[in-house]
Amino acid sequence: MKSSQVYDIAVLGAGPAGSLAAIRAGAFNKKVILIERNNSIGRKMLLTGKGRCNLTNTASLEAFVEKFGKQGNFLRSAFFAFSNCDLMQFLESNGLRLKIERQGRVFPVTDSSCSVIDVLRKCLDDNKVELLFNKRLLSVKRESDFFRLELDDKASILSKKLILATGGVSYKKTGSSGDGLLIARKLGHSVIALSPALVPLKAGEEWIKELQGVSLKNVSIAFGYGKKKIKSPVGEVMFTHFGISGPLVLDLSQTIVGILKEHKELSLFIDLKPGLTDKQLENRLLRDFSAKGNTKLKKIMVGYLPRRLSAVLIELSGISPEITASQVTREQRQSIKNLLKALALTITRALPIEEAMVTAGGIFAKEINPRTMESKIIRGLYFAGEIIEGAAASGGYNLQQAFSTGYLAGEKAALCVE
Ligand SMILES: Cc1cc2nc3c(=O)[nH]c(=O)nc-3n(C[C@H](O)[C@H](O)[C@H](O)COP(=O)(O)OP(=O)(O)OC[C@H]3O[C@@H](n4cnc5c(N)ncnc54)[C@H](O)[C@@H]3O)c2cc1C
Repeated sequence: MKSSQVYDIAVLGAGPAGSLAAIRAGAFNKKVILIERNNSIGRKMLLTGKGRCNLTNTASLEAFVEKFGKQGNFLRSAFFAFSNCDLMQFLESNGLRLKIERQGRVFPVTDSSCSVIDVLRKCLDDNKVELLFNKRLLSVKRESDFFRLELDDKASILSKKLILATGGVSYKKTGSSGDGLLIARKLGHSVIALSPALVPLKAGEEWIKELQGVSLKNVSIAFGYGKKKIKSPVGEVMFTHFGISGPLVLDLSQTIVGILKEHKELSLFIDLKPGLTDKQLENRLLRDFSAKGNTKLKKIMVGYLPRRLSAVLIELSGISPEITASQVTREQRQSIKNLLKALALTITRALPIEEAMVTAGGIFAKEINPRTMESKIIRGLYFAGEIIEGAAASGGYNLQQAFSTGYLAGEKAALCVE
């Protein structure tokens, strides 16, 4: 990079949003520079989908819109401009084979995020995007028709258009520390309060520590506060040393974070046997306890639950694990059934935003033109990706948001360069 050079488009941040924006802008033969503080692209993307990169979902456009709640409609044009099908076709036409897993989640067949990053890197080269690594943007000044970008090595560059794709503030070690939000604020944009989304929750119970690492499939959860209840579908949760995580918890966590602002704590009930009604479970316990009268309770319960959890459940019921099934009274059996249908935890708070997978909040969407991703406040300034307010549940929706808004911003910025 020569400091005297003027670029048509400068893209800030080489995550999925910035990379796609630069690739798309480059396809119009514009002079594009992609600036990244790390020494490579997609540092956060490497971690996605537990290293496997759940890059999108096969859901309909309407489902995508719905997943983003209040911000869904704002994203409609971006999802239309570069849909999940477009993304899959783009990746496949560049040699990446994809596969679809449960609930429409799309992954590369390699099961490695690196292979998605490799495609982006190749396309950046193909479209002659100049890459500037190990440079952190510190500030932006508007100078007549240009943006002057000041970097941490005191160099500065000029660009006609600027795309801010610096992400949110979660997992700061990946480079997403909120710089773009500060820069946008200085340029006159409003930032909607940042809060964690897709975040594990802390529980007050001491016994939770004994369950660290225990994962439960085919359970459902319900959060209770006041007289209200929020229920999940059937899915997976995981106990941690501080509380609870796993897809069911993460997906509801954004709502729970909001509720925790008004309620000091709330209850979480885990239905460990959602496939059985109370009556069916009661009958099954009765049948089992009668058939295995001489078997110790602790042995029978292992047939119902993972060993560590069954021990905790018996302890919570107050029954001796050493008694035989025939010694269990009707009331005791009821109490076991109740725990199996609604194991209660007290949720005290969410982990901090740093440990959330996604940042909710960000640049106020009403200040961005949804058809172009251009700022309504500063002409020539565009936004893409997680820097924009809003977040979705897990399933590949957040990465698709980054790709779609990146694509749209890159295209519109390129088409507006004089
Ligand atoms: C553990 C984890 C797992 C996840 N799994 C999934 C998943 O499976 N599916 C899914 O859809 N989503 C997943 N997500 C969310 C997804 O990673 C994000 O939504 C996505 O990365 C956002 O893309 P982005 O390009 O907007 O921002 P980022 O990926 O955060 O990229 C922003 C880039 O900007 C750079 N940058 C920031 N400030 C500056 C500066 N001043 N100068 C230069 N460069 C700068 C950063 O270094 C970074 O590379 C996951 C997130 C985490 C943390």
